Amino acid sequence: MLVNLLDFDADGLNAWFAQQGEKPFRARQVLRWMHQRGESDFSAMTDIAKSLREKLTALATVSPAPTLSDRLSDDGTRKFLFDVGNGNAIETVFIPEDDRGTLCVSSQAGCALECAFCSTGRQGFNRNLTTAEIIGQLWQANRALGPGAKPDGERLISNVVMMGMGEPLANFDNLVPALRLMLDDNAYGLSRRRVTVSTSGIVPAMDRLAEACPVALAVSLHAPTDGLRDRLVPINRKYPLAELMAACRRYLVHAPRDFITFEYVMLDGVNDADADARALLHLVRDLPCKFNLIPFNPFPDSGYRRSPQERVRRFAGILVDAGIVTTTRKTRGDDIAAACGQLAGQVKDKRKPNASRTSRKVQFAMELR
Ligand code: SAH
Ligand code: SF4
Repeated sequence: MLVNLLDFDADGLNAWFAQQGEKPFRARQVLRWMHQRGESDFSAMTDIAKSLREKLTALATVSPAPTLSDRLSDDGTRKFLFDVGNGNAIETVFIPEDDRGTLCVSSQAGCALECAFCSTGRQGFNRNLTTAEIIGQLWQANRALGPGAKPDGERLISNVVMMGMGEPLANFDNLVPALRLMLDDNAYGLSRRRVTVSTSGIVPAMDRLAEACPVALAVSLHAPTDGLRDRLVPINRKYPLAELMAACRRYLVHAPRDFITFEYVMLDGVNDADADARALLHLVRDLPCKFNLIPFNPFPDSGYRRSPQERVRRFAGILVDAGIVTTTRKTRGDDIAAACGQLAGQVKDKRKPNASRTSRKVQFAMELR
């Protein structure tokens, strides 16, 4: 079996090169070829000795998950579907804005956490993605997007958010090397604050992330009380709000000048009352944080409705009046089912083997292939 070098961060690659009797600076050269130049063919790595290139070709590959489809939304959002084998596919979304380009990356094929309002959760869970499959999304998107419009060829992807399919902190061991590659100057060189992990609140893994790689943290809050959160985000039954808030405070000890971003999906008549906003103020008092309100993005049979705009505005107003920076997320790419919570890819649920629930749009994209 060939070794996929996209599975290694810098330390991992050094260790593998050492096993082959090769020097660390060779590993660094190969890291740069792979991630900075998007090269997958060892024979094209021209500043490396021919004998080493031949050795690498015999032992290793650079293999991201292959692209199944690549679609452009009317608003410029671009959605990629990647084949991760055995009938499973994952989605990655590029969101261009005036001052940045954000890539929304998946961490699992499906998700086991079953939040009530999330289409990925509805799809069920198949497996964790490997490091190569996680970083491969960035690799593929960089290559597809090409060099930036700016004269110095600056890359179009300036920010990464782990907000695609899956719960990143439930795939900790494969996630961390991918995050390290995003930050590594010999790979993608993104600053720590431009890489965000979004979690539904897996408390022990939040502590481990703070130690291993304290990137920006977003926490999917969605409810101000345990009673409601138990229903909307079932992992709350295991890690209730008091523990979650304590974990947020501990996280900031490792990332002192940072803040936690709380994501809050606005569900009509469920969690969007003035009283809910006031309860949130109480919950997060003294915690450096921002709020990002996400208008609910519907999907078939979700059973929820998006809060009216005026309701979202009033809710945001209560938080803002209390001095909390609050943004409302613009819905992007929903014409191609690329908006938050609409990513479904294609997942064969391991726990319900006969239920492959491919979304109609994805099936269509795959038929077009
Ligand atoms: N599993 C992680 C990251 C992926 S989801 C998490 O839950 O944080 C990214 C964000 O989209 C989360 O805040 C999630 O709660 C939210 N989301 C899920 N379904 C949604 C929907 N239908 N409409 C709007 N936001 C949704
Ligand atoms: Fe999983 Fe996040 Fe969706 Fe919940 S919101 S089911 S944790 S992907």
